[in-house]
Amino acid sequence: MNQADSERLESALNQMGLVSSTAPRDADVIVLNSCVVRQSAEEKVVGNLTSLKPLKQDEPNRIIALMGCMVGPNTSALEKRYPYVDVFMRPQHYDPLIELLGDRMGIDIEGCVGPLTARPDVATYIPIIHGCDKFCSFCIIPYRRGREVSRPVREIVREAEMLVQRGVKEVTLLGQNVDSYGHDLSNEQDLSDLLIEVNDVDGLERVRFLTSHPNDMSDRIIDVVAELDKVCEHFNLPFQAGGDVVLTRMRRGYTNEQYRVLIQKIREKVPNASIGTDVIVGFCGETDEQFQKTYDLMEDVRFDKAHLAAYSTREGTIADRNLEDDVPYEEKKARLRVLEGLQAGVQTEINQRLEGNTLEVLVEDEKNGRAFGRSRNDKLVYIDQATDKVGEILDVKIYESTPWSLQGALLQA
Ligand code: SF4
Repeated sequence: MNQADSERLESALNQMGLVSSTAPRDADVIVLNSCVVRQSAEEKVVGNLTSLKPLKQDEPNRIIALMGCMVGPNTSALEKRYPYVDVFMRPQHYDPLIELLGDRMGIDIEGCVGPLTARPDVATYIPIIHGCDKFCSFCIIPYRRGREVSRPVREIVREAEMLVQRGVKEVTLLGQNVDSYGHDLSNEQDLSDLLIEVNDVDGLERVRFLTSHPNDMSDRIIDVVAELDKVCEHFNLPFQAGGDVVLTRMRRGYTNEQYRVLIQKIREKVPNASIGTDVIVGFCGETDEQFQKTYDLMEDVRFDKAHLAAYSTREGTIADRNLEDDVPYEEKKARLRVLEGLQAGVQTEINQRLEGNTLEVLVEDEKNGRAFGRSRNDKLVYIDQATDKVGEILDVKIYESTPWSLQGALLQA
């Protein structure tokens, strides 16, 4: 989501005539887009902000902006702590910087900044719903990104059409809670209706969506993924914890069993779907037995990908107010290592089974003489040669794998 926000701001700044620079010291405008979903991410932002102070002292006209989740509704504490930052912007609230730059550059913003879109690479993002209404007890997002607001279907389809005209072949529809798309719209359209419309965009080759909440993953969405030719067979469904007691404390709204049933349903309807997940270990009060339920779930489901994190308290959340962060740090790290080991083994096996298969790969770019792209079910594939066919879908025969990527050769010249 932050990457999509950054690309949209970049699009606005480009329209104003600004171009990106490679080093902060060479830049007239520096924007830090912050993530505070984990403690380590917030610490990184603080470190970066601190390192920018001398750059502002050397060049007082340089503009420094902080945007993203670190900026809440009240910025007075941040202003006091970072007096050298010129602008503070909440997620997706780009106007303060655009207006400041317009004033400095003496340009009419209305006349120069059109619709904001992502950077048109071969594969790019379209945010379709902002915010989240779920209020999971560990999560700061609803407080920082606000309540759910879906963009109208027509507007999203128009954006997809515009991106296709600029060379985009694949769009990922984004939301903190993407499968609750439309629940706030009056015309009762939901993610499945949107997927049907986007699937019809001429020239677009692939459609993805993330991240989904298990409780909003309807039968209709699963059916649409199974039926539509451009919608890729990939689901990202965070389960977060395997113990029901922990799930209740997290306010996730489902049980271990309900999650398993959902996965089974997806696999029945979309047999070749890949499934990713997010997991938190060491949440408040998580016992060894409850952690074991997480391990068992991962071992049984066999995810294609898993983002694993050790719990850290985020100030202002329900867990921060009501629960004790009582699992020792070393224990959290140990549980994390256990899951990492398990997942690396699972991914090794899943990817090894793809050796000898031919996958359709949308070529996104190349690096060190090797083209790369993704398969329909979201596997990163390196091709053993460069190609001038960036943006095309090529058949690639896989001959080698690691837990994180595949290596293959082109079938056609
Ligand atoms: S559904 Fe996701 S974004 Fe929303 S509160 Fe829960 S973890 Fe946070």
